[in-house]
Amino acid sequence: MAKHTLEIAIVGVGKIARDQHIPAISGTPAFTLKATASRNAQVGGVDGYGDLDTLLNAHPEITCISLCTPPQVRYADARRALLAGRHVMLEKPPGATLSEVHDLISLAEARGVTLFATWHSRHAASVAAARDWLQGKDITGVEVIWKEDVRRWHPGQEWIWQAGGLGVFDPGINALSVLSAIYPRALHLSAAELYFPENRDTPIAADLTFNDPGGANVSAVFDWRQTGPQTWDVKIETSDGTAILRDGGARLVVDGTEISAGSDHEYRALYAQFSELVATGASDVDLTPMFHVADAFTLGRRRAVAPFDW
Ligand code: NAP
Repeated sequence: MAKHTLEIAIVGVGKIARDQHIPAISGTPAFTLKATASRNAQVGGVDGYGDLDTLLNAHPEITCISLCTPPQVRYADARRALLAGRHVMLEKPPGATLSEVHDLISLAEARGVTLFATWHSRHAASVAAARDWLQGKDITGVEVIWKEDVRRWHPGQEWIWQAGGLGVFDPGINALSVLSAIYPRALHLSAAELYFPENRDTPIAADLTFNDPGGANVSAVFDWRQTGPQTWDVKIETSDGTAILRDGGARLVVDGTEISAGSDHEYRALYAQFSELVATGASDVDLTPMFHVADAFTLGRRRAVAPFDW
């Protein structure tokens, strides 16, 4: 007998949909990709529509919608899908504002459907090992270093420089999603410096300082101007040694020895979790990484730096 799968549609066929979502759905028996909604792109072999309303009307059998658009336009489509009684999976960050995501949480609850705000980096191969290693340790310092070349990873993406696109917090929020997943306590921002190219609305770099009620010195540096080697590290000093979660969470090195490493199954893990949430009638929306980003925009000092052009 054929295995029952959930029928799903993708909205926003762009970089992340093609790099990760479509392959992950193909590799997850729980889902079958049935259609897409995208203004300018289609995926071979499935029905393609220019907008979500048309897709929802044409396909009442599609129960799940995965939103892969930039954050500024995600709320309107999420709302449409939830109102139509569909389960919704949101790329990170889950929205452009915290209050719009709260509205989606209420709507999903009222409609009795699943809302899943994904944080793909939390599923990197060694994040769970780092969380386990930290359990019960006396943490004295944390340094997050997330430095990458925006031209290499976001070529030509104008939305990242527009209000709501988050600038360097687009990758930086991944670091915050990892830190908040492994850290044994809630942290809160105490200071921030944000570096805005004088011709752009979002920052190209940020220095953050956090208050840890447990007393550790916690800081983060995000920079999109890094050429050459790229760095996505979380370094944690404890009285029992120093752990470095490297390569965006792929590898855990403790006192110079690699104790965990694995390959990238982040998006397959997300779709497995989404199917589980749908099956159990649950939602999962953790806004902690977004709180820190919102706090940085609230508290941060603004510094003007050289204009950015592609
Ligand atoms: P993208 O390729 O620039 O955008 C995805 C698609 O969204 C576009 O191709 C476009 O397709 C559609 N879209 C709808 N409204 C749009 C608008 N106002 N401006 C631009 N595109 C619009 O972006 P992406 O890199 O896939 O990122 C999408 C989301 O995934 C972001 O929240 C990002 O943080 C997250 N993400 C990205 C990566 C990555 O490596 N790129 C990794 C993890 C997560 P149509 O023109 O056909 O409508």
